[in-house]
Amino acid sequence: MPIEPASDKVLRLDHLFIGGEWSPPEDGGEINSIDPSTGRVWAVVASGGKGDVDRAVASARAALEGPWGHMPGHERAALMRRFADLYQARAGDLAEIEARDSGRAIRETRADIGSHHHGYHWWASLADKAAGRTIPFDDTVHAFTSRVPVGVVAAITPWNVPLMAAAWKLGPALAAGCTVVIKPAEQTPVGTLELGKLFEAAGFPPGVVNIVPGYGAGDVGEWLVAHPGVDKVAFTGEGETAKAILRTGAETMKRFTFELGGKSPHIIFEDADVEQAINAATNSAWTLCGQSCALGSRVLVQRSIYDQVAEAFCSRAAKVRVGPAIDPHTHMGPQAHLAQLEKTLSYIGIGRSEGAELLTGGERLVSNTHSAGYFVQPTVFANVSNDMRIAQEEIFGPVAALIPFEDEDDAVSIANDTRFGLTAGLWTRDTGRAHRVASRIRAGMIWVNTYRFIRWSTPYGGFGASGWGRENGIEGLDGYLDTRTTIVSTHGRFPDAYVD
Ligand code: NAD
Repeated sequence: MPIEPASDKVLRLDHLFIGGEWSPPEDGGEINSIDPSTGRVWAVVASGGKGDVDRAVASARAALEGPWGHMPGHERAALMRRFADLYQARAGDLAEIEARDSGRAIRETRADIGSHHHGYHWWASLADKAAGRTIPFDDTVHAFTSRVPVGVVAAITPWNVPLMAAAWKLGPALAAGCTVVIKPAEQTPVGTLELGKLFEAAGFPPGVVNIVPGYGAGDVGEWLVAHPGVDKVAFTGEGETAKAILRTGAETMKRFTFELGGKSPHIIFEDADVEQAINAATNSAWTLCGQSCALGSRVLVQRSIYDQVAEAFCSRAAKVRVGPAIDPHTHMGPQAHLAQLEKTLSYIGIGRSEGAELLTGGERLVSNTHSAGYFVQPTVFANVSNDMRIAQEEIFGPVAALIPFEDEDDAVSIANDTRFGLTAGLWTRDTGRAHRVASRIRAGMIWVNTYRFIRWSTPYGGFGASGWGRENGIEGLDGYLDTRTTIVSTHGRFPDAYVD
């Protein structure tokens, strides 16, 4: 069922998905979603009020204590598989929605969203496998652990990869037996709200997944975090938001997982297959218009090949087709929203004033083809030193910072000189060096002779300011499970402590 805009060409999704039903928000709240390729509103989406949050949490609690909580894992798995099949069938529409909503080029959204059903199937396969263990002690007790769902989860997602972020939370949460209230980012709410139709069609019991778009601070996001009926917050976004969430959630002792920012080093040694390294490094600088936490925004290049790599970056930049996200020829779409465009342009100014050498790009694109969209040129700074702000702070734009290094120790020291620790890449033909360097870098995921290989089965998450906990992989289930230890006496006798 393709998604059709209303006759005035603006898509209207004016109902929330709560308790298995579509209902209007209590106060008629709505969010204008802007297509960043045009700068115009393309969709108007329902935005929840406080009462809607209460209803969503109560529905999630009722499902947890009712049908979902009592459902055997293999039956939950069957529902998840049905959902995965429906997701696969609608992946083309969802890819189009995400291209319009977030500005991510459709060739990227098709490839990414076209694979999500594999992830949901993978999570389904874990729905009946959260086993505990028996604990040896002596023959007077039988001690064992059970893995139990943490309960009602508030999933709060960012605007850069809304459906991927949703999948990374919904998959493990449902596999663990939790119920969920999901709040997508206010800039990109459409695709996530559409998922309600798929959960409905798959036959999930009411309240297992509830979808309540809204804003963050002082709105749906904060109300969810503060809500005493929510047990866990699964958050992807900025570090400052995570701190605010920690403060709000402390009152009710929430559990948290945080997927936060990155400033990942992408290291190219002189003994690398330089052509392949350049393919990866340029792609990882500009894919998603630079708006991914995992991108190699700090490109560390050994001095002897520095000029060669810098030249290659410039010639690749000239080949990047920047255009409307929905155009299949587009390599790189716009920035996802105006504030992000302004942030990127401001960092480009900072880079210039810090003395980095702007090799190419650096400007907003305003030609007729780009109309009022939020387009910016692929940008390359050379001779960046690692203490500059453009090397230390997350820009979230298509801005590569090329940093020269002398030798292995120098590369490791620059790579680790950051408060982040999400991902890192390194290119070398020397196997020993690959292992040596990989083992010295503080990051949650390291790629050797590849970059940004991320799958549902590979644990993902950061050290330091990049977050807490892991998403994906079997470890991803841990964030949604508690451990209950049960000790059963084999004889049932308990001595009277007050007999003498
Ligand atoms: P953000 O922190 O501004 O917003 C993220 C979400 O939090 C949104 O849904 C927002 O409405 C909500 N929110 C904002 N304030 C809140 C509050 N006080 N209480 C509750 N919810 C609140 O982040 P963003 O700008 O949407 O996303 C970009 C950031 O996300 C970047 O820093 C990026 O690195 C990070 N990110 C990390 C990963 C990862 O896996 N590590 C993946 C994607 C994005």
